[in-house]
Amino acid sequence: LMAGVLHRQRTRESSARTYARSFPIVPVRAQGITVEGADGRRYLDCLCGAGTLALGHNHPVVVAAVRRVLDSGAPLHTLDIATAEKDEFVSTLFDTLPAELARGARIHFCGPAGTDAVEAALKLAQTATGRRGLLTFTGAYHGMTAGALAVSGGVAVREPLAAFTGEVTRLPYPYSYRCPFGVGGPQGARLAAGYAERLLDDPHSGVVAPAAMILEVVQGEGGVVPAPDEWLRAMRRITAERGIPLIVDEVQTGVGRTGAFWAVEHSGVVPDILVLSKAIGGSLPLAVIVYREELDAWAPGAHTGTFRGNLLAMAAGAATLRFVAAEGLDRRAAELGDRMLGQLRALQAEHPVIGDVRGRGLMIGVELVDPAADPDPCGARPAAPDLARRVREECLRRGLIVELGGRHDAVVRLLPPLTLTDEEAGAVLDRLADAVVAAER
Ligand code: PMP
Repeated sequence: LMAGVLHRQRTRESSARTYARSFPIVPVRAQGITVEGADGRRYLDCLCGAGTLALGHNHPVVVAAVRRVLDSGAPLHTLDIATAEKDEFVSTLFDTLPAELARGARIHFCGPAGTDAVEAALKLAQTATGRRGLLTFTGAYHGMTAGALAVSGGVAVREPLAAFTGEVTRLPYPYSYRCPFGVGGPQGARLAAGYAERLLDDPHSGVVAPAAMILEVVQGEGGVVPAPDEWLRAMRRITAERGIPLIVDEVQTGVGRTGAFWAVEHSGVVPDILVLSKAIGGSLPLAVIVYREELDAWAPGAHTGTFRGNLLAMAAGAATLRFVAAEGLDRRAAELGDRMLGQLRALQAEHPVIGDVRGRGLMIGVELVDPAADPDPCGARPAAPDLARRVREECLRRGLIVELGGRHDAVVRLLPPLTLTDEEAGAVLDRLADAVVAAER
């Protein structure tokens, strides 16, 4: 079975979808963090649908919620029409949002993917402000549709759309390991913020009047790069002072992942538009934007689409949000994440191929470097993508699924379910440590 399935995938499916598709696994069953392949092998899944599965695979509350809708005979596809399931999802979501944002906020169902919600956010900001320019950051990732690509950092994926990038200004993200200003930590972040502010105020900078600034609180695909809270507050101040709506993309960081229910809560920053997807659908496709009422410049029909609000996804999502809130899985992610970061830093001390260990909550990155090369002024050594690929392979051989990310594809990313037990966390770290030893040889 496996060989046939893998062969047909290789020969029939576009190779553009590289995300984990090369893994020699044909999953047949999954529960929690565990995925079982057709060959009977079991894996610990720290990719979890690219961070979608907050409660892991097939969590009983999610399965029960989906089953309830199916058994009720409710229509599964209702476009934008009001349903009890939608009402329940929206109420549950609003209950979890920072009060200052939730008060009088509007929600728009964009679905099915995160990139659709990013498009909607950019378009709404442009409609509301009547401006076209967009501010974004080095290393950003917002999706694969044209507008989302235009505000993403990777040149390779953006190249065919170069014409779209004319009105986009890329500001330096405070990546404290590979510091844009040759200084890391809080000082580097202050320099990055100061640069952004001066650029916006310089009439000769060529920055087109911004309709919005879009940012991630922790860059995910960009290599698990957390932004300091100070810097985030500076971005909030800078945009507020200039009447520029702030879009925060929490597609990957939302629903407890970073150790707060929403990653913006760490800094207290209240965005004008919040972009949500992945975990809010409880493993099914769902994407929304939540925004300040004053920005609601859309006339009926201004932004439509067929798949925006699937009852199964709403039920699975509401069940997930409720479970994370009721069980305090955000706080659990903070505590367990800190412990795992500490253990990974101990591993780093023994293995100079680990250049940096960073993250927030259960969104963790391990950057692999060439230890023989000279460090830059911040102490960062050149990234080692080949080594990172070997680590990923050795992880897989030991029954651990991880994906790579980052500017140079040299960051091993861990996105385990928030239901991770201490034992599972120990097993993940043991396997990763063994994989590093094997890959180093
Ligand atoms: N924004 C962020 C921060 C993401 O991490 C992603 C997906 N990795 C997206 C947007 C795009 O989401 P999707 O792949 O569902 O289009």
